This record gives sequence, C-alpha cells and structure tokens, in this order.
Amino acid sequence: MDEDLRERVEAAAEADALFNALKHDSDAQVGAIMGPLMGENPEFREYGDEIPGVLAPVVERVNGLSTEEKRERLAELAPERVEELDAEEDEDEQALPDLPNVEDYDEVRMRVAPNPNGPWHVGHARMAAVVGSYKERYDGYFVCRFDDTDPETKRPDLDAYDEILDAIEYLGFTPNRVLKASDRLETYYAYARDLIDLGGAYTCSCPGDEFSELKNNGEACPHREKDTETVREEFDAMVDGQYDPGDMVLRVKTDIEHKNPALRDWVAFRLIDTPHPRPEAEDYRCWPMLDFQSGIDDHLTGITHIIRGIDLQDSAKRQGFVYDYFDWEYPEVIHWGHVQVEEYDVPMSTSTIKELIEAGDLDGWDDPRAPTIASLRRRGIRGEAIVDAMAELGTSTSNVDLAMSSIYAANRERIDDDADRAFFVRDGVEMSLSGGPERGQPPIHPDHEERGKRTIPVGGAVLVEDDDLPPEGERVWLKGYGCVRRTDERAFEYTDDDIEVVREGSVDVIHWVPAMTSVPARLRTMEGDVTGHVEPGLLTHVADEMVQFVRIGFARLDAVPEASDPMDVGEDDELVAYFAHP
Ligand SMILES: [Zn+2]
Repeated sequence: MDEDLRERVEAAAEADALFNALKHDSDAQVGAIMGPLMGENPEFREYGDEIPGVLAPVVERVNGLSTEEKRERLAELAPERVEELDAEEDEDEQALPDLPNVEDYDEVRMRVAPNPNGPWHVGHARMAAVVGSYKERYDGYFVCRFDDTDPETKRPDLDAYDEILDAIEYLGFTPNRVLKASDRLETYYAYARDLIDLGGAYTCSCPGDEFSELKNNGEACPHREKDTETVREEFDAMVDGQYDPGDMVLRVKTDIEHKNPALRDWVAFRLIDTPHPRPEAEDYRCWPMLDFQSGIDDHLTGITHIIRGIDLQDSAKRQGFVYDYFDWEYPEVIHWGHVQVEEYDVPMSTSTIKELIEAGDLDGWDDPRAPTIASLRRRGIRGEAIVDAMAELGTSTSNVDLAMSSIYAANRERIDDDADRAFFVRDGVEMSLSGGPERGQPPIHPDHEERGKRTIPVGGAVLVEDDDLPPEGERVWLKGYGCVRRTDERAFEYTDDDIEVVREGSVDVIHWVPAMTSVPARLRTMEGDVTGHVEPGLLTHVADEMVQFVRIGFARLDAVPEASDPMDVGEDDELVAYFAHP
C-alpha cells in the first residue's frame, strides 16, 4: 500500500470511527468500521489484510477524544454526517412527549425517588430511563432521592442504596445529586414546626378508628383547635420519643369537609419504634409520612417536573395544602399508567422476588428467571437498550405493556456487529464422521469476512442436536464444514457436495461441535439452565464478551474455563453463558 492510499484509508476511517463512536455513544471498534469502509471504498478491498493495521491507531486516537471533540472533528471532516447523527437523535426522542411549560423554568429538574427496600426490578427502570432521557433532552438536573422514611413496613435494605445507584449508572445516567431522606429528619422537623406556627398542623391523639369515623362524617376532632403552643410542645415530645406508636400523630389541617375524604387532615408524622437500619438514623422515632417528606424535598431541591403513577393523584392534592401554607409553587406533574411485563413467570414485585431468593427458588437478584435489572445486566443487555424501550412507552395515563422484544431489538442493534459467532450443541448426539477434511472453518462473523474464520478440528466424531439428525441415508450440511450423509444410526460420511445443495433447499444447515475437543457448557436462560457443549475456540474468549450461538441466540459469556487446551478442562469445569435474546 503506498503512502497516498494509506492517507486516504486513514481519512475515511477516521470519519467512520467518529461517526460510529458518536452514534453508539461508546468506543469505536476496528471490526465495526471495516465493513462500511470496504463497502464505500471498493478500491481498498485488495488491501484487506493490511487495512486493520492502518485502522487500529486511528481508532485508538478517536477513542481518546471527548464527545465534544469527536463532534468537532467530525464536523471538520464530514459535516453531513453530523447532521445525520442529529436527525437520528431527534427521531429517537419522538416517543417521549415534550415536558409542559419548560420555558417557565431556568433549568428542568427532575427526580427519581426510590424506596431502597430492594434492588430494582425491570419496572423500576422506567422512571430513571425517562428522567434521564429528559435530563439529556433539556440539559437538565437529575436528583436521586432515597425516600427511606419507613423503617418498618417498607424497611430499607442497606445494600439496595448502592445497587440502585449502580442500576442508574448502568442505564447510562449519573445523578447530579444523591440524597437520603433518612439524613434529613431535622429539616422535616423544622418545616413541621413552621407549619404548626402557621396554624397548618396539629397533634392528635385520637385512636385511628375514632378519627376515621369523625373524618368520614366531615367532623373535626377535639384536637383540631388546640393552641399553637400546645401543639409545638406535643410535637417536640413526639420528636423526643415520649409517646408510644399510635398514641400521637401530627396532622396537616386541610379541609375537614373536603369532598375527597382522603385529603381531610392527613397524617404528616407518626411514631415508629423499630429502629432505622442505617446507623445514622437509628435513634429517630418520629418519622414523616411520604407525602410530607417528598413534598418538602421536591420544593427544597427545586424539582420542576414530577412524574408519578396515576394511582397517586391524591399526593399532589395533599401536598398542595402544605405548599399553600408556605406559599410555594407546586411543580408540574405528569401522571402515568403502570408498566407491565408479561414474559416472566416471576411477578415484578420486590417482596416476592426477595421471598423466592430466600426460599432458594431463585439464585439471586441476577438469576436469569428474575425480572430484575441485575438479571438483564448479567445477560448482556446494555442499559441503553432498556432506556430506548422505556422511552418508546411514552408517558400516557393508560397502563402499558413492555414487550421484552423491544429491549432485545434495541440491544441486538448494539451488539450484533461485535459478537463473534460460535456453536453450542444442546445435549448432543455423538456421530462418527469419516472421509472429510480434518477441520471446519466457519466465519467469525458472516457480515465481516475480514475478521477471518474459526478453526474447529473434527477428530473423527462430532456432536449434533438430536432434532437436527437427518433420517438414515439423508444428508445434512455441517455449517462451516460441508455436506455429510447419515450412513448409520451413529455415523456420518462426508459427501463432498457443493453448497448448491443447500441453496436448492434439499439439505438443512446445522451447527455442530467436535466430540473429543468440545467444552462442556451451561446456558442459563429465563426458562432454566440448558447444558451441552461449545466449540473449543471459545476457551480463548473471556468472561463478559457477547457471542452469538448460531441458531440459538446471543449470550453473554459469564465464566470461561482457564485451560487453553480443551483436553485440560477439568471434570467439573464448564463454560457458563447467560442467554440474552434471539
Ligand atoms: Zn384528634
């Protein structure tokens, strides 16, 4: 290759690498840009062997640039491709409607407010995906606030705080601010005292059922007209833990005759004896109810837009009374319907999943049968694929079904190009094979010839799947090897037929592995584990890589035996992969 051609290859490759990296928001890969480069520049093809060597330093340099620098450089080299990127981004965002009244705010600020009572199931990812997408659209501000003020019935799980933050990172977002409500009790107390001074709250020692009866009749209890000083004293005594749970609550004074009884003088604080699991909060006994706590925090953190479930419409109305006392502006609210996922047998419920794990029915939160974020991650689903699918659901008030196939489609787009192909034979029937070449050479990736071929030794016998066996006397095409005829119950003979027999449709193409040198493997799927054997070349791969098992689907390698020679793989050792999707 002469100097002039080398320069042309470098220039074309740089633009492709920049485009590729910006489009997928990840590092550019030599393999992924080879195809388009050759497609667009047929004159490069005769130098196919040398080109990867020219590309590698270009790709490395591109990957060293920031997103901003990449865009600038691409604008210099190929401005039309920057436009192409922007057009695609606009298209992606269409499913999510614009937020209301954005122009009224200096900055769009939104929050996810998880209860850290366990790691996230798939449904939980929707809020983070949508809030994160809006943050990107408006260059906004993303708050992650742990609403962990119920140490008893929705008791926080100490590991879940970090697990949830990890899940948000995995989806591709970094919150601008992270806070824990259980760190902020003194703040809530201070606002409660202000509210008392404004005549907006009173301590009430009515037994719950007695208060309910009065309230449902639109009648005030005798405590409603207590003087402010007494209310303050009694609230301070609540904070000091001088009452037993149930003996005293602090109520917000709303409208005792409000047409919706749920809004009448609701409870803002109550006493809970169970200590909070966080050492920082274990001494507190007087805990705010979610509506009080989140209402105060939304205001203090400058939240401009709230998304919440349609079943929580009363929350905004309850909090509206507190906002009115303080003369605060209530954020914009979008109510959306629930999201359902039907593909799983295990229900999307934190407590149910937790019980199944404790009972040993699931291996953990990342068991492929669990409808959790940890499980999708272990299967090799990229966070962005989940975000794409969640954004597509929009924010309508009706309930929506999330089809896992839309996550899979978005993921396939991202991984297909880089995933090497491999054979995995489930169970497997051993067939002797005579008369043919010593090895098979299927391509590493059928769309990328330049990546070369795998080499699979035959060694006189192969394993194939029982369902794939042709009747005796019939032929079958071993992919990447050639045509064989079944001459006996357990024997194949090479036939030297041309690939034409496959094109004519008279011979099926099947996958296979060598009987002697294949590696025992376990594929973990949503329906349970499948065992079998994989081709020996997978021993050179490493955990976390994605592969496509031909005729089965994409999978993430989870554990690869350390031996480099299949004969050295120990008896109990096996390759473990997690099934991602077809
Ligand atoms: Zn009362």
